[in-house]
Amino acid sequence: MEKKIRIAIQKSGRLHDDSMRLLKECGIDAGNSRNQLRVAATNFPAEIFFLRDDDIPEYVQDGVADIGFVGENVVLEKNKKVNTVEKLGFGKCRLSLAIPANKRIRSAEDLAGKKIATSYPHILSGYLKKKKIKADIHTISGSVEIAPRIGLADAICDLVSSGNTLFSNELTELETILQSEAVIISNNDLSPALQKILHKLLFRIQSVKRSRNNKYVLLNAPNEKLDAICGLLPGMRSPTVLPLAEPGWSSVHSVITETDFWNIIEQLKQQGAEGILVIPIEKMIL
Ligand code: ATP
Ligand code: ZN
Repeated sequence: MEKKIRIAIQKSGRLHDDSMRLLKECGIDAGNSRNQLRVAATNFPAEIFFLRDDDIPEYVQDGVADIGFVGENVVLEKNKKVNTVEKLGFGKCRLSLAIPANKRIRSAEDLAGKKIATSYPHILSGYLKKKKIKADIHTISGSVEIAPRIGLADAICDLVSSGNTLFSNELTELETILQSEAVIISNNDLSPALQKILHKLLFRIQSVKRSRNNKYVLLNAPNEKLDAICGLLPGMRSPTVLPLAEPGWSSVHSVITETDFWNIIEQLKQQGAEGILVIPIEKMIL
């Protein structure tokens, strides 16, 4: 029987939809299977397990699953023996210390002797140790943000993305301890057959990630401006230039990255480019 890679993803929660979408964009169809524990992909040698995110590092360490999609924050907190093999670019957040807005605490050092509530005792104690701050860690599993209000703690250490939860609980961020995003972890002893499947998957994921960061650009350029315009467009090798039916004009095709996108578009216009079309790329294979 063909070997299958067992992929653990979050059953429901913040990482579920993005994980499923990424698999789908990699051509791995697991259907609409949220209510099952386990589903076989139809067109890739993979089985998808739906689990609580907190359990994923342990299952991957123990070989119940071969790889898992999970937040780096969970990987570091659980401290299991697994390999982190790829960042996924979603589930971005930070683990931060926060204090009630009215507290006279200016820096992490001022937390010495104070009580900090968190669901991340391992990461927090490592941080406090490194900074030589002696504080009292109070571990709770949920709703950490209400701990100061009910007198359970002087500060909290919790995940933040927009900051809305902190704001509505009258908390202010004091310091960031960790930047996190979803990653792929793998078991340390994958067989050669499974490593081969993992490489195939990583190749697809990297193509999808690259395509998300790049756009395909088509434009018309007067021939006398071609050098200047091509200089702004690196392309995968170099831009493609084709003559237009109208004499003196060419069509230029290239790929540009999301980060300098608007900057380049403005410069292209200044150089006389017309009819600029920007098209999303579905896959980008090098
Ligand atoms: P589960 O039921 O699987 O245990 P959970 O409640 O522990 O779910 P979620 O709230 O769904 O977890 O968050 C899953 C992951 O999403 C987090 O571990 C983190 O990596 C990421 N994340 C991104 N932004 C945030 C945020 N603002 N708050 C919490 N987690 C976030
Ligand atoms: Zn969880």
